[in-house]
Amino acid sequence: MVINNFQEIISHCKEYGFIFPSSEIYDGLSAVYDYGQTGAQLKKNLRDHWWKSMTQLHENIVGIDAAIFMHPTVWKASGHVDNFSDPMIDHKDSKKRYRVDHLIEAFAEELKAAGKDTEATAILDEMEQLLGREDFAGLKKMIEDKKIKCSISKTCNWTDVRQFNLMFSTEMGSVAEASDIVYLRPETAQGIFVNFLNVQKTGRMKIPFGIAQTGKAFRNEIVARQFIFRMREFEQMEMQFFVRPGTQKQWYEYWKAERKKWHEALGIPTDRLRYHDHVKLAHYADAAVDIEFEFPFGWKELEGIHSRTDFDLKQHQEYSKKKMQYFDSENDENGKPFGNYIPYVVETSVGLDRLFLSVLSFSYAEEKWTKEDGSEDSRVVMRFPAGIAPIKLAILPLLKKDGLPEIAREIMNDCKGHFQCFYEEKDAIGKRYRRMDALGTPFCITIDHQTKEDNTVTIRYRDNMRQERIAANEIKNLILSKIS
Ligand code: ATP
Repeated sequence: MVINNFQEIISHCKEYGFIFPSSEIYDGLSAVYDYGQTGAQLKKNLRDHWWKSMTQLHENIVGIDAAIFMHPTVWKASGHVDNFSDPMIDHKDSKKRYRVDHLIEAFAEELKAAGKDTEATAILDEMEQLLGREDFAGLKKMIEDKKIKCSISKTCNWTDVRQFNLMFSTEMGSVAEASDIVYLRPETAQGIFVNFLNVQKTGRMKIPFGIAQTGKAFRNEIVARQFIFRMREFEQMEMQFFVRPGTQKQWYEYWKAERKKWHEALGIPTDRLRYHDHVKLAHYADAAVDIEFEFPFGWKELEGIHSRTDFDLKQHQEYSKKKMQYFDSENDENGKPFGNYIPYVVETSVGLDRLFLSVLSFSYAEEKWTKEDGSEDSRVVMRFPAGIAPIKLAILPLLKKDGLPEIAREIMNDCKGHFQCFYEEKDAIGKRYRRMDALGTPFCITIDHQTKEDNTVTIRYRDNMRQERIAANEIKNLILSKIS
């Protein structure tokens, strides 16, 4: 059972420059966050790692960077204008709006906490069924029958269940007309679909192949909560894999396994990852699974793997009147070319911010121990895998004099072109180590008087706090070998 240290993690993010509330001096903007100097680097490292493993390490996957604004018909074709909504319910007294599934899930959690596990599971099962059938009257009846209360008013005075579209819209051009309405993309995937033939033809791609993309997406989440878990502006890392019709199941299984392995290789503990198969499939999917992570507040979706069939390309073909076909010159088992077809698509879609939160969650540790002299000591340490840590190496001259800063600067100059370094000469060395622990810096080196005599430095390892002397000219290669 993972301990709920969520509030501590949020405070830590603020204190050490990982994440700030957006426009904080104006009291923030709900469910919008800014990444600070440490967080932006960590986020970039995660994005780069995903990008490299998707594109550089897969010869048949290329990356693009499509615009956030797209022709409004894209969202009609994709089904988002008509279908991208969540059932919600308002409370008549408190005027608070709830997402129906969140309201019921919170109620089930309360039952579990009271030891009523069987009842909680039955309620969740029934909810899934009702959502699957879009039976809104049934959902309302369930909320009333179970006497599920508003968290503010503590009463059951509910409106009917209604659908609420999650897309943000704005106008393009100076004069507002209905035809000028554009949407802030709610997913990056459509930028890939509309460029499918551009990329296939100019890149001479052969099926199966993938197109990857990272970028901002926007959703007017009804109940945005849990810090960066559910934001109104967030970043996705998506890859659409185009396959021959009939092979989608096999590729779906392949990417399902592959993506879980990727998270494990990143350093996410295996026992904090699991699959959750969808009962209610999105309008475009013939199979879908979530890779869930055990966040401090429970198991939640980190990444979705969706077999999207040929839905999107077919829709774009219909709405744009442009052919979305691929010509497959390879032969089938009867020796005949596969010929023209609209490919099927398997999608992997992970939220960068959620990945960031999962990395924070498994890395954050509060540690206490007894020192040799019997006194107590403690630290907060971010145990980031070295390869993604925002700062790889801290360079710390023991004193601000006697030529030590000059040696430290030389080392800094030698290393900073290769990985992120941090130079610090203020404060006692113990205090500097603690600060580096809190920032998750895996290696610190200290330059002292002995360095002047034998050109060795003390290297200190974050994870076990062990220290040893190494030759100054070995530092760069040592760190490079540890972070590769
Ligand atoms: P949820 O059920 O949690 O709302 P979803 O099923 O709508 O998520 P997808 O449409 O599959 O999510 O989006 C793919 C990924 O994008 C998700 O796995 C998640 O990591 C991320 N994501 C989606 N919505 C948000 C959000 N509001 N804030 C942060 N990340 C998000």
